[in-house]
Amino acid sequence: MNIVLTGPPGAGKGTQAEMIAASYKILHISTGDMFREAVEKGTDMGRKAGEFMKAGQLVPDDVTIGIVAERLAQPDCEQGFLLDGFPRTIKQAEALDDILTGLSQTLHAVINIAVPDEVLIERMTGRLTCSGCKTIYHRTFQPPQVEGVCDKCGSSLQQRGDDTAVDTAKNRLAVYKKQTNPLLEYYKQKNLLVNVNGQRSKDEVFAEIRQNLEAIQ
Ligand code: ADP
Ligand code: ADP
Ligand code: ZN
Repeated sequence: MNIVLTGPPGAGKGTQAEMIAASYKILHISTGDMFREAVEKGTDMGRKAGEFMKAGQLVPDDVTIGIVAERLAQPDCEQGFLLDGFPRTIKQAEALDDILTGLSQTLHAVINIAVPDEVLIERMTGRLTCSGCKTIYHRTFQPPQVEGVCDKCGSSLQQRGDDTAVDTAKNRLAVYKKQTNPLLEYYKQKNLLVNVNGQRSKDEVFAEIRQNLEAIQ
């Protein structure tokens, strides 16, 4: 099964992606994680992408499309994949169609996690990520057992640079509305869009996603 997970920043894409990938044994591909890894490693691409990420803007389409095309061409994607945070523009969506045609693959569903703006800001500014295994926590909504320490691997928890300032978080929401929101219509036209209410517990959201995916399989 090949799935796209979309929704505004802080909607719960990464959280649900971990659960979906584990349950359906498909590959989780997050462009945000790939960019953050490149920033950490200090590669040329990471330096370029990091500037856009810090400002809460999208990394240019050609760079983003390039890394996704390369990743989807790897043989492990044949077991099925979950794209988290890609596509984010119509140009990326069209490029994805071409990439998949070239690989003789198709998309089976586009899951949109909907959450109101004020909740999104609270989710972003309280988000913590494990520096080791990248598990996602929240100071209030999903706290670790021991403050600052990952339950799963014991590594330290970090706050993302683009989550610390409320202004950057708000800018990411504005960018989402302008550049990514039009994708909903694009995928609705293709009969792939599944809307899920993201303003409930993570288990309830996952149950709704699972129900929808069972209907598709
Ligand atoms: P969130 O989880 O808050 O939605 P991500 O981790 O998916 O954020 O992305 C973090 C940042 O990485 C984005 O704000 C953007 O700068 C960059 N990025 C991630 N995916 C894409 C994409 N598909 N196109 C352009 N930029 C992207
Ligand atoms: P995205 O990848 O869409 O930016 P994340 O999965 O990283 O979103 O979640 C953003 C923040 O909200 C994290 O701190 C996460 O722990 C928290 N979160 C995710 N899902 C829920 C939920 N259903 N209820 C409350 N908090 C949630
Ligand atoms: Zn961890």
